[in-house]
Amino acid sequence: MIQNFDYAEGPGSAPGSGPRPARPGLSGLSPDELETLVAAWGEPAYRARQLFSWVHGGRARSFAEMSNLPLGLRETLAVRAVLDTLTILERRKARDGTTKYLFRLSDGETVEAVWIPAPGRRTVCLSSQVGCAIGCRFCATGWGGLVRNLTAAEIVDQVRLIARDTGQRPTNLVFMGMGEPLANYGNVRRAMELLHAPAGFGIGWRHHTLSTSGIVPGIRRLAGERLPITLAVSLHAADDETRSMLVPVNRRWPISELLKACREYVACTGRRISFEYVLIRGVNDTRRDARRLAGLLAGILSHVNLIPLNRVPEVGWEAPPPARQREFARLLEEAGLSVTLRQERGGEIEAACGQLRRRYAPAPSGVGV
Ligand code: SAH
Ligand code: SF4
Repeated sequence: MIQNFDYAEGPGSAPGSGPRPARPGLSGLSPDELETLVAAWGEPAYRARQLFSWVHGGRARSFAEMSNLPLGLRETLAVRAVLDTLTILERRKARDGTTKYLFRLSDGETVEAVWIPAPGRRTVCLSSQVGCAIGCRFCATGWGGLVRNLTAAEIVDQVRLIARDTGQRPTNLVFMGMGEPLANYGNVRRAMELLHAPAGFGIGWRHHTLSTSGIVPGIRRLAGERLPITLAVSLHAADDETRSMLVPVNRRWPISELLKACREYVACTGRRISFEYVLIRGVNDTRRDARRLAGLLAGILSHVNLIPLNRVPEVGWEAPPPARQREFARLLEEAGLSVTLRQERGGEIEAACGQLRRRYAPAPSGVGV
């Protein structure tokens, strides 16, 4: 049973924790908080439990459909609370079944999430913010800067609406959509707790992955929680000069500090870290880069995910040719690292970070390299 939450924002938090709607989004409330809410309307505690199951497990599209709740409560909920904080604006399905969703939020902003079905697992790739303050050079999400943090309800609702739309229960969650999850720590942590709750989606901790650009205080805070989730770290370069150019947050927390926090994370949780490395032709794909990377990660319990750059037309960069990608992977393997070269999925539906939303909020002029 999850208790009341108290996850204050930590260092590195982005400004603005989202709009404060007069009517609460029910999917962001814990069972205890729902209990307090319905108690104020004179309803007993078990109604809150029923409501939690409807919100997180049910397929109801309105309070009116919640047939085991008294009519009076359903009417109060319709006036005083919000069931869905998002609506589906667009849906694009690739041949392999990967489906990209564009959602509209109540203030008119948009975010993306991706449904990735595979044998034995169904993954939802989630957004944590509208836009992103980090501004990685190759990432369409960062170009417009940060607009605002998503609320916990808006994060949970990406999963709820996709489950309802596909008629299937997700088995895995990855925070690899728009935004830097550790810069919205409180809301992301709360959403994870709600999605983990057995009375809701019941997604086990080992099936949660959180990807960060390297917010060191956030990594330490997460380590302290000792959750057996997978931490993914977007490394993307093996030297500070290149990494600062690609992932500007490296100027604040350079590679040595980041890897120190990663070692602490492994020591605290016993979990291996997944290092993401976007391969960009002529930027970070040489043999020297591969050897340096192997040197940096030697002795860290890790797995390396090589991601061929998903080309964004506004930026002149592209992925290296496949033979070079394979050679990069081979060099890391020969140095004793565990490596995956990611197969591109959903490329034809603009599944890369921030690409679909960009159609609705075009990149500012002057973006490019
Ligand atoms: N902000 C977090 C999580 C969201 S981004 C982070 O940066 O880790 C998720 C992943 O998508 C990151 O590894 C990011 O570097 C990668 N990504 C962004 N744009 C990309 C592109 N054009 N091609 C390939 N990967 C990209
Ligand atoms: Fe933000 Fe991640 Fe995109 Fe970088 S890659 S701009 S941290 S969402």
